[in-house]
Amino acid sequence: MHDPNCIFCKIIAGDIPSSKVYEDEDMLVFKDIHPSAPVHLLMVPKRHIPSMAQVSVDDAPLLGRMMVKAPELAKANGCNPYPEGGFRLMVNTGEEGGQEVHHLHIHILGGARPWRKG
Ligand code: 5GP
Ligand code: ZN
Repeated sequence: MHDPNCIFCKIIAGDIPSSKVYEDEDMLVFKDIHPSAPVHLLMVPKRHIPSMAQVSVDDAPLLGRMMVKAPELAKANGCNPYPEGGFRLMVNTGEEGGQEVHHLHIHILGGARPWRKG
């Protein structure tokens, strides 16, 4: 599924440029255009899933692969080693979850710790 009005679908299609760090047949990972940490990547499924509120059990293998890929990409893109370093994975969902782009994405944040726990 491809949503012609979705900015991340346009990035996946190559219609909007992005700084890609990883791609396979199911997912794309690129740098956030407004980084809020020294390392700030966005992992997106290539299929247009609007948010975590719409995932189904059929998406479980892909979501699992993304979670397993995240630490490898964090390390390869400058996050310092665990436990002194590390990274944060964040999935904003819906208005009250702070989601601005309605194509599911996992933020990978690291290289510094500017955040509070919540
Ligand atoms: P959300 O608030 O939905 O969780 O996060 C959306 C993220 O997408 C934001 O951190 C924002 O900086 C990033 N973003 C929005 N538009 C673009 C774009 O065109 N290119 C890239 N690389 N990132 C974008
Ligand atoms: Zn999309």
